[in-house]
Amino acid sequence: MASSIRLGRIFGIEIGINWSLVFVFALISWTVATEVLPFDVPGQPALSYWVAGALGSVAFYGCLLAHELAHALVARRNGVKVGGITLWLFGGVSKLDGEPKSAGAEAVIAGVGPLTSLAVALIAYLLSLLPLPALVADLFGWLAFVNVALALFNLVPAFPLDGGRLLSSFFWWRLGSRQRGVHSAVRISRVFAYLMIAFGALLLFTGSVLNGIWIAFVGWFLLSAGSSEEVGTTVRGLLSSVPVSAAMTSPVVTIPDWLTVEQFLESIAPQHAFTTYPVHDPSGKLTGIVRLGDLVRMPAGARAEERLRDRARPISAVPVARPDEDLAALIQRVGASLDQRVLVFDGDRLVGIVSPVDVARVVAVRQTLGGGTPAPAARGSM
Ligand SMILES: [Zn+2]
Repeated sequence: MASSIRLGRIFGIEIGINWSLVFVFALISWTVATEVLPFDVPGQPALSYWVAGALGSVAFYGCLLAHELAHALVARRNGVKVGGITLWLFGGVSKLDGEPKSAGAEAVIAGVGPLTSLAVALIAYLLSLLPLPALVADLFGWLAFVNVALALFNLVPAFPLDGGRLLSSFFWWRLGSRQRGVHSAVRISRVFAYLMIAFGALLLFTGSVLNGIWIAFVGWFLLSAGSSEEVGTTVRGLLSSVPVSAAMTSPVVTIPDWLTVEQFLESIAPQHAFTTYPVHDPSGKLTGIVRLGDLVRMPAGARAEERLRDRARPISAVPVARPDEDLAALIQRVGASLDQRVLVFDGDRLVGIVSPVDVARVVAVRQTLGGGTPAPAARGSM
């Protein structure tokens, strides 16, 4: 996720938090400090409630992290590469850069999250029975409750929740293909999403406005997540076993990076039909890429002044690929940043560029031909 803060690594897995958490952190602290604790343990000083509320909030995110770490560690043990974990508004997302080998592996990876939350709930419940100060004991009781809620919510059979994945792995096992498994699971997932929206609307009209809006919003979120899951799986399926070389534009025209933008636009750009050009220094070394679209948008006055290297995206920031690499794997690896361009190198030699348009073309052709096999996905839970 783009706007996330890196926290560090646990078991070699990168952990980050999204900015939206600051808001949720405050909301949880406030709820615990002003509603949960004063109701259960009345007559304490306000400061104690607030300190306990903040600690409860931290502990809650610790529990979420335990849930996500369980997914990530089990995924790694099943040979799925883990890109990292991001905690955000709805909980956590483990980014998995690959596909489970079997329906069984997918089920175990999905199921271990809710199981972990239930285990954490049990531990918190047992701790709440110890002879502790009343506020602390009550906090453990609250943690037990929210972890059970977390486990149950994640078991709702809708994408991107664990329940959706469990359902999808079940259909994968029954139907023999991951893509068909996802397809069937998304259909059921949609029914649950609509039910949640309907239930939310019902609450809204029966006076429980805030709960109604919240539940309807979550339903809408699940609905769109299901659709993107299906599209993603289909596209990845269409692109698996297609080599990068089949999609790339080749050969590539590279331009001296010391030309001014004006020189480039007047004498070089009209000769070619490309939208992206790698640029090189006098020694021939690639230094970056420029995009025609960015250059034509520059104010006319600046074009004569600035050189291509001033406007180039540095080569170190441009993703690279090999021509024999799987296109589906490349997209999985590069992800959303494919709106940049990917340079394709055969050894040291630049042999092509892949753009989103190139990928879209391959998808369109494959779709017409009716090809497609299963593919990977990211995992989310709330
Ligand atoms: Zn989960």
